[in-house]
Order: sequence, then structure tokens, then C-alpha cells
Amino acid sequence: MKLLIPGPVMTRAEVRAALAHDFAPWDRDFYPIYAGIRERLLPIAGVGTDTHASLPLQGSGHFVVEAAIRTFVPRGGKILVPMTGGYATRLARLARACGREVVSLPVGESERADPRAVASLLAADPAIGHLAFVYSETSTGVVHDAAAISTAARVAGRRVIIDAVSAFGALPLDLAAMPEVDAVLFTANKCLEAVPGLAFAIAPKARLIGRAGAAESWCLDLADIYAHAEKFGAGSFRFTPPAQVLYAFLAALEIFAAEGGPAARLARYQANLRVLYEGVQAIGLTPYLPLPLQGPIVMNVLAPDDPRWDLLSFVELLKQRGFLISNFYDTALPSFRVGLIGALGTEDYRAAVAAMDDALDALGIRKRKAV
Ligand SMILES: *Cc1c(COP(=O)(O)O)cnc(C)c1O
Repeated sequence: MKLLIPGPVMTRAEVRAALAHDFAPWDRDFYPIYAGIRERLLPIAGVGTDTHASLPLQGSGHFVVEAAIRTFVPRGGKILVPMTGGYATRLARLARACGREVVSLPVGESERADPRAVASLLAADPAIGHLAFVYSETSTGVVHDAAAISTAARVAGRRVIIDAVSAFGALPLDLAAMPEVDAVLFTANKCLEAVPGLAFAIAPKARLIGRAGAAESWCLDLADIYAHAEKFGAGSFRFTPPAQVLYAFLAALEIFAAEGGPAARLARYQANLRVLYEGVQAIGLTPYLPLPLQGPIVMNVLAPDDPRWDLLSFVELLKQRGFLISNFYDTALPSFRVGLIGALGTEDYRAAVAAMDDALDALGIRKRKAV
């Protein structure tokens, strides 16, 4: 079965094979593996160990989003969130649940967050200390202009948290040119194409030093993770790490480097997008977004305006043909979501379009255009 979903993504056989190695995480053989992973991640964000630290956290992406909010935004602090879609809504919910006050900037589902709107909201409310935004909005498929949005906060003298969970490893990121960023957040199982279970933050060391405890949570304290690593060595973990998952992640990072890093990965995902975008149009379907707005991470396709359309039946028919897509709607207008990331190439997307064509015929759908 090919998973056409934005995480957990398809992995290569080498990555899954690496899971077969058992490790004692406190053993000397494991330390360099873990320390090496931490170091390898920094150049992907355009920085090195001189200025930044990479901080692993067991769990999924939400855990590290909450950890970053707790670590860097003071309790009761105000945080501006451009409401770009489902993942921005989740970010805002996490912030409120931690007792932070969210100021929302409404953004339409098919538009990019406007850096000028960010600037004017920040200018209007000096109590907003942080801006937090989603780089690639995994619900709509829109990629936002992270550099421009972040610059608006820098100019206003505010700090920034970037949810780059579905962007990191493919979309450009140069933290060396973004001193306003407190944390960029990602996981192992999206564009880095490893198995789920690990989340990460990359943060400036200067912002981590002396901050341990401010999170009011031992588990979700990025500054405590940093302080521990400084005290006991870069290869030590505070609690039992998912050792096999870390080793599989190292295998995925080696494949990532051999493929050519973020630029090569982005090119592969863009090629997947082209095949899918043109392919669904060729079989009479309508993409949710116009091409200039469509990012290379996920793509939504509008549901056909035919009474026989039924998402779950379509998903089942596609499964019988070897492809799995998301089985829920994540946009205002009903649309089915197809991931473009993972260990997949254009031949997979050509076959997926043929399977969609076939599945629509099997459903007896005559009108494939959207309303
Ligand atoms: C996947 C994702 C997350 C985290 O989701 P988890 O299910 O907790 O791993 C957060 N933000 C974005 C933009 C994502 O795509």
C-alpha cells in the first residue's frame, strides 16, 4: 500500500530495517549516534553548533509545539497567530491551554498570511511578545512566506516560533538570517521521511541558557533538554529515548544527504505535485487551490459535484487499488487530501491518478467537476 498522506509518510526499506537494532541508550556506542543526529540537523536550518542547539523530544509534533510555547512565551504572555488553517488552530489551542493569550489574525484558506497585516497588529499591541505561525499549512496546502512574516516580527522587535513540521527538510529555511526566531519545530516523519515518534526544536543557545524551569513542565521544557545535554553530554537523554527510532532516523538522514538535501527533496515533491495537479485536471477533477498558491507538501482536490460522490467509498476503492489518502475533509469546501511527501516519486503519482480515474468510474460518477 502506498501512503499518499502528509505523515506519517512512506519510508524506505533501509529506514525500516534500521529499526531492527536494539540499543541501550546510556551505552557508549549509542551516545555518538544520538549526538550525531543532533548535529546533522542544524545545517538543514542554515546554522551550526556555535549558535544553535537541536533539541529532541519524544512524541509527535504537537508535543514540541507545546514545549516551545511553554519554554519561550511567558505564562500570561500574548502571542499572535495568523489563522491559516487547521494547524494554526491547533497551535492557538495549545497556547491557550498553556495559559497564554492568543491574538488571532484571520487569513483566508486560499491566501498567504500578509506580512503587512502582521506588522500592523504588532504595532497596535505592544503587549504581544511573540508571533507563532505555520510555515506549510498542512490542511490547505498553502506554503506561507516564512521569511517575510518573520521579518515583520523582527522589525517590530518581537520573538518568533515557527511550526515547520510539514516544511522542514524541503522548504528553504535560513535561521542564520533570522535572529528573531526562538524555535523552529519539526518531526522525523514528514519531509525527513523517517518513522514517527520523534519531534525536534532548533533554538538559539543564547535563548536557552538559564531558562530551564520557565516552562512549568519538566517533560515539555526545551531549556531543560538543553541544560541536561550541556551537563551530561550531547549524547545523553533525560528519559528513556526511542532508541530504535533514533537509529532509523539516522538512516533516513543519510538517505536525505545522499539525495542532495533540502533542494533535492523539494524538487522531488514539486515534480510529484506537477504530475498530480495536471493528472487530476486531465481526469476532470478540480484542484482546491490555483497553481500559484499550491505548495509542494499536500494537495486538496475538490469533491465532484455528483450525488454518487462519497469520500469513504472513494478512499476504500483507492485502497483496493493500492493507494491510501486521508479519509476526512480538512477544508471549508469538501475536498480530498493527497500528500506529496514521503518516499514516493512521479511514477507513483501517475499510477495514483489512474487509480482515482478508475475509482470514480467504479462509483458511477458522471460529473467530476466541483460545484
Ligand atoms: C503534522 C503537523 C503537526 C504535528 O502533528 P502531530 O500529529 O502531532 O505529529 C504540526 N504542525 C503541522 C503543520 C503539521 O503538518
